[in-house]
Amino acid sequence: MTTLEITGGQVLKPDMTVEHGDVLVDREAGEILAVGDVPAGDETLDATDGLVMPGLVNAHTHLAMALLRGYADDKPLDSWLREDVWPIEGVLEPDDVRAGAALGALESIEAGTTALCDMYFHVPAVVDAVEQAGLRARVGHGVVTVGKDGDEASADFEEGLAVAREQDGAADGRVSTAFMPHSLTTVDGAELDEFVPKAREADVPIHLHANETRDEVTPIVDEHGERPLEYAASHGLLNETDFIAHGTHLDATEIDLLAETGAGVVHCPASNMKLASGIAPVQELLDAGVTVGLGTDGAASNNDLDVFDELRDAAMVGKLAADDASAVDAAAAVGMATAGSADVLGFDSGRLAEGKKADIAVLDLDSAHLTPQHDLVSHLAYAASGADVLHTICDGDVLMRDREVLTLDAEQVREEAEERAAAAVERAR
Ligand SMILES: [Zn+2]
Repeated sequence: MTTLEITGGQVLKPDMTVEHGDVLVDREAGEILAVGDVPAGDETLDATDGLVMPGLVNAHTHLAMALLRGYADDKPLDSWLREDVWPIEGVLEPDDVRAGAALGALESIEAGTTALCDMYFHVPAVVDAVEQAGLRARVGHGVVTVGKDGDEASADFEEGLAVAREQDGAADGRVSTAFMPHSLTTVDGAELDEFVPKAREADVPIHLHANETRDEVTPIVDEHGERPLEYAASHGLLNETDFIAHGTHLDATEIDLLAETGAGVVHCPASNMKLASGIAPVQELLDAGVTVGLGTDGAASNNDLDVFDELRDAAMVGKLAADDASAVDAAAAVGMATAGSADVLGFDSGRLAEGKKADIAVLDLDSAHLTPQHDLVSHLAYAASGADVLHTICDGDVLMRDREVLTLDAEQVREEAEERAAAAVERAR
């Protein structure tokens, strides 16, 4: 066993208190051995003037959409997807997706994110990027059947299932999978009935976009006479390992259903605001005992992958939604981005405690905007950003030291992404 000792800093504990202390990590097992007063490690990582905290967990994203950052903005979801996003995604090759996912992974590491959930296509290319970056991820193929004939639709479902089966356990176990029907309005109900039992047999969670906009709610209510999440449950979705992205427009019955089933919700406040999708009832979800995590969604609707922004947005918009400044307080926001997201994804991370995965970020507190230090949890929610992260550690390995990413060649990743993004735009014209 070789150990890594993160020394000299303050430590954010799972109960959201902060103490001076060190963290000792078993590098081979990728686990935290001790927090606080720890024995000396074989190697050290200096956290003086820093806050040692769980790595942030981005529970819903589309990493490769980093290629589309700034490509099309200021439109509602439906026309943005149909007029801009889907046409260019239609020309993306596996190497484009690999380059985009590498760019997203680089940005994630630089912002202290250690784990994420990715829904996209050409998933083996996403897995390559995640593996090289050293991150932890739950990945899946976003199944879409709208606009496809029966055979094409079945083939897409088959691919979603094959990816879920074949990629599970990749990258030395850092990659796990989920079966990912894109949303309740973009996949066919009869196909869901056929494939959901197969996903259960494969023993993987199911992840989908749900109740993101009113346009995803009204057609289901009109056509089936039930709320979208009731419709989802009637097709075998929403068990305790499943999780939905967004949940912007939920009624009380659906919040109860989530609490009863144990299915998680990934709140994506920036994407919801940018696409004017609506305001999720986050405090109500938390009060009902629903497991809630945070996600950036793709970079094209955010437009960055900095989960610190998401924390702040979740707290701010949560207060607006509840018409109550005490709603979604700083600790709740930080909790959603760490333990909450990890719980949603089924990762044993998101908490600095013995036996937990060694997925850790160290924040540099030596800056004007983090002075004075009345309350560091407040700083995490309201004042810090990903640019303050000094070191990023995942599974016991140092991915970024003193802001230098060690697992990826940052310059090369950015250059290739720039070239491939420009070429894809040309092809899509
Ligand atoms: Zn999404």
